[in-house]
Amino acid sequence: MDLGIKGKRALVCASSKGLGLGCARALAEAGVDLVMNARGVEALEASAEAIRAEFGVDVVTVAADITTEDGRAAVLEKAAGVDILVNNAGGPPPGMWTDWERDDFIAALDANMLAPISLIKALVPGMMERGWGRVVNITSVSVKSPIGVLGLSNSARAGLTGYVAGTSRQVAGAGVVMNNLLPGFHATDRMVGMDQNQANATGTTPEEVRAGRSQGIPAGRYGTTEEFGATCAFMCSQYAGFMIGQNILLDGGATNSTM
Ligand code: NAP
Repeated sequence: MDLGIKGKRALVCASSKGLGLGCARALAEAGVDLVMNARGVEALEASAEAIRAEFGVDVVTVAADITTEDGRAAVLEKAAGVDILVNNAGGPPPGMWTDWERDDFIAALDANMLAPISLIKALVPGMMERGWGRVVNITSVSVKSPIGVLGLSNSARAGLTGYVAGTSRQVAGAGVVMNNLLPGFHATDRMVGMDQNQANATGTTPEEVRAGRSQGIPAGRYGTTEEFGATCAFMCSQYAGFMIGQNILLDGGATNSTM
């Protein structure tokens, strides 16, 4: 399917690995030139080079922490005028609700709410002037179905979700389509790490943990970064023009709800 976005430019944040990389690859397959970002240079350059070789699109890399002001300034220097923004960053650490202090919440809000909002404010006005734009924010299933130990994530992502709900409707008339993409369990490095931690805590193996978690997913397995990226690319396509302010859940059916 031709997504109708060949020749557009996209900033995909936190995209050297995992879900961000899945989005970058799917956009590149659709013919979109990329600005890719992550903190570590090595994986970022390797992923960018693989995308150039496979899809023949232009890829600029910026190694920077997207949750800091300096990092965002470095990224925005290369990403000025992009048509598509995919917001992503690492998630806050797990913990207990009794342990989180103000500083923990401020760090989570900075990373998972205020950083994406800052990039939206920097890039969406240009999209509106040009009459076309797409924003996809990678959030989490925890927005719809809270995960207790990820309370910092639940809180910060709920804040971003509220902001996007209102803002997406304010910019839609200017041709900018803004939505959130909510991952459930996906097979990424982060998930491998979480399975390992759970295995260590319970005296089992990561494979057993994954099998156990998969039993709670009607699809019977973790999602892939390819599936996630393809959904993101569709949300950035010409065909997503009537999808405004939505929270698209990719969790294999794990969240048991009618709507
Ligand atoms: P991942 O496999 O660990 O990949 C994270 C990517 O983001 C890497 O490229 C990493 O590179 C980059 N990154 C992390 N922090 C960054 C920062 N501050 N600035 C710039 N780049 C940064 O993680 P993932 O599974 O793709 O998860 C992506 C997001 O989805 C996270 O917020 C996670 O909480 C959320 N999520 C994931 C799942 C899942 O099942 N995988 C489920 C729900 C929600 P560097 O480390 O080199 O910076």
